[in-house]
Amino acid sequence: MAEMLSERYAEDIERACEFLRTCDDVLVVSHVQPDGDAISSTLVIGWLLNKWNKTYRLVNENGVPGRLRELPMAEQIGSYTDAEEPTEKKYETVICVDCADYARIGKIANWVASDARILNIDHHPTNDRYGEAALIRVNAAATAEILYDLLLAAGVELDEQVGTMLYTGLLTDTGGFRYSNTTPHVMSVASELLKLGVEGNTIAERLLETMSMAQLKLIQRGLSRLSFTPDQRIGWLFITPDDMRETGAVNEDLEGLVNYARNVEGVDVGLLFKQIDEQSVKVSMRSSERVDVSAIAQSFGGGGHVRAAGCKVSGALEDIIRQVLERVKQEL
Ligand code: 5GP
Ligand code: MN
Repeated sequence: MAEMLSERYAEDIERACEFLRTCDDVLVVSHVQPDGDAISSTLVIGWLLNKWNKTYRLVNENGVPGRLRELPMAEQIGSYTDAEEPTEKKYETVICVDCADYARIGKIANWVASDARILNIDHHPTNDRYGEAALIRVNAAATAEILYDLLLAAGVELDEQVGTMLYTGLLTDTGGFRYSNTTPHVMSVASELLKLGVEGNTIAERLLETMSMAQLKLIQRGLSRLSFTPDQRIGWLFITPDDMRETGAVNEDLEGLVNYARNVEGVDVGLLFKQIDEQSVKVSMRSSERVDVSAIAQSFGGGGHVRAAGCKVSGALEDIIRQVLERVKQEL
């Protein structure tokens, strides 16, 4: 079985390379509210297309989070709203990275022709293999890990620049090489990247250690509301638009907040409810070993990984908290 899978993976890599070699005028997009892996993976594809003298455009709905702006070529990534060229342009060729399903690209879908050729590169178990070509490895820690394999297969020589991009994806999606997805392969890829001169400590300091004052204030608010079920197996907190405004926090400052609920001893599932407006809530789910939160997220129209998943649900905050808690209790 393992051999069959790896054979399929090799074939998928070959098809993805072929797609990349033959494409031009291509839109490279990652998911809404992009994380470190989404931005890094976008940049790695950009780096390769640039090397191969292709015309390309890097984008995601929200642009680059502040702390990722120091990545090489990050200034090339646009957002939905800062489009310089007319937004009526519809791309015929699209590469989606780190997007479990096509809808994850959000409003960028408006820039995609209805019959566009799509290359789908991802590591989410909930990926539905949309697109003309799909390169999916669900046991990869990050999309960046798959891209490392792809670059090797493509026979390109790596440099410190692309090394920094790849390392960032690995670092952020493994929670600093701590989560259970930190495999021997991840560590050996990281080792190869460090040999290229990548400054692992600087990247970790900026992305995992440094905290803005606004983020600290947001954490204070979140922690003051941390609640648990009577058996203390589910912990949750919520953040409102007022919290965001009053602390001056931005979306990326929410990252890691859900872990305070999950990391408490005895807690099986940690939940963060981010109220987007009166009618919608973004839910982040984290689990320890027992519960598959990707299945729970999927039942609310979202997806993700076994231990980290999310969804966007319509309804009032209190109703959604109640519904999700009910659903999680069923799984325990
Ligand atoms: P986070 O809670 O950090 O936003 O996301 C955790 C994981 O769940 C990530 O792997 C992310 O891709 C996935 N995820 C979060 N929100 C959604 C969603 O609305 N739909 C899908 N399919 N996946 C999501
Ligand atoms: Mn990822």
